[in-house]
Amino acid sequence: MAAIEETNGSVKPFDLERVRPDFPILATEVNGHPLVYLDNAATGQKPASVIEAERRYYLEDNANIHRGVHTLSQRATGAYEKAREVAARFLGLESDRELVFVRGTTEGVNLVAQSFLRPRIKAGDKILLTTMEHHANIVPWQLLRDEVGLELVVCPLNEKGEVELETWQGLLDQHRPAMAAMVHASNALGTINPAAEMIAAARALGIPTLLDAAQSAPHFSIDLPALDPDFLVLSAHKLFGPTGIGLLYGKAERLEEMKPYQGGGDMIETVTFEKTTFKAPPERFEAGTPNIAGVITFAEALKYLMAMDRTGAEAHESSLRMRAEAGLREIPGLRIIGEAENKVAVVSFVMESAHSHDIGTFLDQEGIAIRTGHHCCMPLMQSLEIPGTARASFAFYNTEDEVDRLIAGVAKIERFFR
Ligand code: PMP
Repeated sequence: MAAIEETNGSVKPFDLERVRPDFPILATEVNGHPLVYLDNAATGQKPASVIEAERRYYLEDNANIHRGVHTLSQRATGAYEKAREVAARFLGLESDRELVFVRGTTEGVNLVAQSFLRPRIKAGDKILLTTMEHHANIVPWQLLRDEVGLELVVCPLNEKGEVELETWQGLLDQHRPAMAAMVHASNALGTINPAAEMIAAARALGIPTLLDAAQSAPHFSIDLPALDPDFLVLSAHKLFGPTGIGLLYGKAERLEEMKPYQGGGDMIETVTFEKTTFKAPPERFEAGTPNIAGVITFAEALKYLMAMDRTGAEAHESSLRMRAEAGLREIPGLRIIGEAENKVAVVSFVMESAHSHDIGTFLDQEGIAIRTGHHCCMPLMQSLEIPGTARASFAFYNTEDEVDRLIAGVAKIERFFR
């Protein structure tokens, strides 16, 4: 039975039975077993409405957007711009002018590093990050370190895998970084950071912030005005939408001050060989023919999520995570990595008897998909002194039965390798 949500005094169960058939791939068999898909932190599965929206777009509307006078181009342009409005609604924004379509979280961070931070810094300026950052929120800043001399300051974690606000505040005070960038929810540990407080502490010192919401947005509603970062990035494919598309949010005044990231068609006002003038944001940052089908189908995924009981879904995921953690803890020699109080539905673990890659390979034989390795968080793994973990990550469409199959599969591995 899925979790219960209170709505206007009435009690409503999260309707798992209704949601699950929306995801056709979940009925697949893998290696002779019904698929148990527990690799949602890597990418989410797509509901039929998203798959159908892409098919419909190419069958009925396909045309290049903007500047087209013909009907299909206008239809495609309308759907593309409508998607921006949908995304604004999804994030609780009043205006869609602060949203740039990018290829994903990675491109969003690179864009901010190059177009926002680079022109503002000199050698010796600093950026504050945390130990749990994904490579996407480390390497773009390191490129600036190598080019301009930016210094990386890293906020350590406590034993549970949490950022402590006093530590964060202390580093802000001590280093006065030019920028602070942090992950909202860790893909490797599941930890949910106290993002609103971390951002407010930076803002109080006039330090701009970037929030990596790649792993938080799939699990709970993002109230962007309440978090109030200068920038936020996320990827559509983790939000049950297509790959190759994502969002960069930037405060209007920040985007306004930024130079283009790439030059080309569609982002210009006028071009001569002597001089080019650029469009205002967000178009200034969307050079060339964009991923039109991706944007339109991304909006479909966001509509799907907005129509869902997200509070109930979150409670359901949380109960799956706790069931998994409780069951896995019973297995001799197994250690859960990441014991934060506040977690999304991600369970990382290591075993004394088996390497994480062996765990992943073994579970795959049982039709269970998990991810193993460093999860693009090599510095975090180094700080934990482990090469990697086995990671099961849940979505709202997962079931208690699937959790039990994971636990049984891991218990079998323990018996086998013991
Ligand atoms: N940040 C986090 C926390 C992530 O989990 C990921 C994807 N694993 C990324 C950034 C990068 O996202 P993408 O590969 O979609 O650009």
